Amino acid sequence: MSLAIRAQAEIAVAEADVIVLVVDAREGLTAEDEAIAQLLHASSKPVLVAANKADNAERRLDAVEFFGLGIEEVVPISSAHGTGTGDLLDLIVERLPVTEPEEAIQGVRVAIVGRPNVGKSSIVNAILGQERVVVSDVPGTTRDVIDTPIEHAGERIILIDTAGIRRRGRIERGIELYSVIRTMKAIERADIVVLVVDGVEGITAQDTHLAGFARDNHKGLCIAVNKWDLVPRAKQTTTEVTQMIRSAFAFVPFASVLFTSAVTRRGLPQLLDTVLAIWAERNKRIPTAKLNDAVERAIANHQPPSRRGRHLNILYATQVAVNPPTIAYFVNDPTLMVTTYERYLENRLREEFGFQGTAIKFVTRARSEKERAE
Ligand code: GDP
Repeated sequence: MSLAIRAQAEIAVAEADVIVLVVDAREGLTAEDEAIAQLLHASSKPVLVAANKADNAERRLDAVEFFGLGIEEVVPISSAHGTGTGDLLDLIVERLPVTEPEEAIQGVRVAIVGRPNVGKSSIVNAILGQERVVVSDVPGTTRDVIDTPIEHAGERIILIDTAGIRRRGRIERGIELYSVIRTMKAIERADIVVLVVDGVEGITAQDTHLAGFARDNHKGLCIAVNKWDLVPRAKQTTTEVTQMIRSAFAFVPFASVLFTSAVTRRGLPQLLDTVLAIWAERNKRIPTAKLNDAVERAIANHQPPSRRGRHLNILYATQVAVNPPTIAYFVNDPTLMVTTYERYLENRLREEFGFQGTAIKFVTRARSEKERAE
């Protein structure tokens, strides 16, 4: 079976609530169908077979041969004619699990991500060995993803998706696509991303790519330079390496950087302290008056851009949300807000208000002078 098909089946098993195996009724049962069915059998997820291209009565009858896959429901459908799809949909709905509220456990959601072998699972295990693990208070959770709540400094931190790290099966190994998708999902569900990099091997494109994804999703970001025990003190100082990391990750200047060793446990308590500090920054609220003072001063120092004689006019700014901190600028014309100026304002606001360790989300909305007056 080709790697791509195998990867698809594995992603389905890991991520789906109901799996629909689509087979070709015109072609009949193939060895590949059987191989995929084998993989799907191994999961506990409900599986249906959709025998597609069953365009006429004869083919619909022939579809019974797919019962040979050992999957209890086979629905003949014709996607070309639209027949059978209603039945298929009914069966899918019947099998959907009863969903619990997505974020049933409260706490700071942390995703520990990074390339293979940088030490993610070692760090998670070292943390779990040290901190109090809170027994999940969600009854009968059916999700595949296991979130592990721990307590640190009196706060609850939820390590997202450590199952993928802790119970790494043979299936998952070596399937790049699978782990990339899993990582991206973990980042999306997190408040704060801990990006683990290898202190010996240095930074690769994959590392910076993950940091970019965290930033684009407006997450908190902490870069943990791991395996620091292997770097001889005389060879490289933390100052030098911090500089190197800062330049490789120049596009996320807000990120916190620290040094860890899963072996000696150096830096691990600080890692959790940093996570909580970033959490506090993400939940900070800047009063509108203070924010506008800072914006006005920034504008006075560096005039907003203009285009074809039109000036960007920032009427006022206000923080509209926390986690992620979200700042809205109300302006005369949002198309005049160029990235360089937005970045300039961000830098000035950070000088003033910090927001250390977290991305800030900026939105620019149109407002007329009249509306402002009102
Ligand atoms: P993952 O693939 O990112 O989860 O990486 P692992 O946790 O499986 O670690 C990969 C290898 O690096 C294992 O052999 C670990 O024992 C080793 N390792 C992980 N963290 C450290 C560390 O801080 N120092 C040293 N010396 N070895 C480490």
